[in-house]
Amino acid sequence: LTVLGIESSCDDTAAAIVRDVEGQTPQILSNVVMGQGALHAAYGGVVPEIAARAHAEKLDLVVEAALAEAGLELRALDGIAVTSGPGLIGGVLAGVMLARGLAAATGLPLMGVNHLAGHALTPRLTDGLAFPYLMLLVSGGHCQFLVVRGVDDYVRLGGTIDDAPGEAFDKVARLLALPQPGGPSVEATAATGDPARFSLPRPLLDRPGCDLSFSGLKTAVLRARDALVAAHAGLPRADRADLCASFQAAVTDVLAEKARRALATYMALAPAQPAFAVAGGVAANQTLRAALEGVAAQAGARFVAPPLALCTDNAAMIAWAGIERFRAGVPRDADLVARPRWPLDTQSPALIGAGR
Ligand code: ATP
Ligand code: FE
Repeated sequence: LTVLGIESSCDDTAAAIVRDVEGQTPQILSNVVMGQGALHAAYGGVVPEIAARAHAEKLDLVVEAALAEAGLELRALDGIAVTSGPGLIGGVLAGVMLARGLAAATGLPLMGVNHLAGHALTPRLTDGLAFPYLMLLVSGGHCQFLVVRGVDDYVRLGGTIDDAPGEAFDKVARLLALPQPGGPSVEATAATGDPARFSLPRPLLDRPGCDLSFSGLKTAVLRARDALVAAHAGLPRADRADLCASFQAAVTDVLAEKARRALATYMALAPAQPAFAVAGGVAANQTLRAALEGVAAQAGARFVAPPLALCTDNAAMIAWAGIERFRAGVPRDADLVARPRWPLDTQSPALIGAGR
């Protein structure tokens, strides 16, 4: 199967073509991502109206670019997959309408894909993981532990009850006058800092389960910063590094402990090929990654972190999720209603309990 994927649910306009021949390693023939960062930079966040317009303007261009890069014409494809939620509704609608138009013009089968399913199925594209595996989605907008049992079969073990970790990194960067996106700048600053200097809270560790919380941590950083600024009439460079390192250590401790619990629940299912995969921009953090790798090794699970370009928003993951759904026998034209909210564990109710 050769499938075109289309993604426009947040601030990246993306198109990609993935080919999967049974018995062979799937191939990403093209993967085009056009970011909107510059358009939103002045507003300190993604502006939905601006995003929707930019998607509408750029979608046909990224599709053309993806076809050109793959050296294929539309009629050489076997299907089209498009993100139909969750996300900013204007962008999602723009993608779904373009996909509908392409499908109507070519007669190709169309498949709606949950953006989160795209992230969650990526380790099968990159590393051929077998079901069931444990997944941690950790990004600017999401933080959740999922057991991926099948193409449309997800069990959520827990997640954040407030901010996502990427959001916390971004806010901490803002508090400490470091550049955006905050993750990379906080990580770089933390490299020379002392992670034990400030004792920041480890939210929800005292509670059972896999839920997480990050907003209190951010407030604790704010208080520590204000105390330093008051004492020094400014924020000394070394103190800023210590604060970044202490914050990063707190995020890492919390995620590692919750991952330990999620792995225990997952390992109790006695998976034949146990694996723990991460996705999302925050998975780029080396300190976090090393800690999660250690937790996986302790539990006896293989640790998988797809290349960063496939961990952050892209359309190859949508094309791949489309291929998986076509192969699983999900009828064409399924899930084409654009949805702002679409929790993974209620995906395609018709399929749940179908015995996969
Ligand atoms: P989503 O895809 O869930 O809607 P998003 O588009 O914000 O959200 P991503 O593109 O996956 O998410 O990731 C971006 C986030 O990852 C940002 O918040 C950024 O600060 C964070 N991030 C990137 N690199 C690092 C790093 N090295 N350490 C920590 N966080 C990081
Ligand atoms: Fe995403």
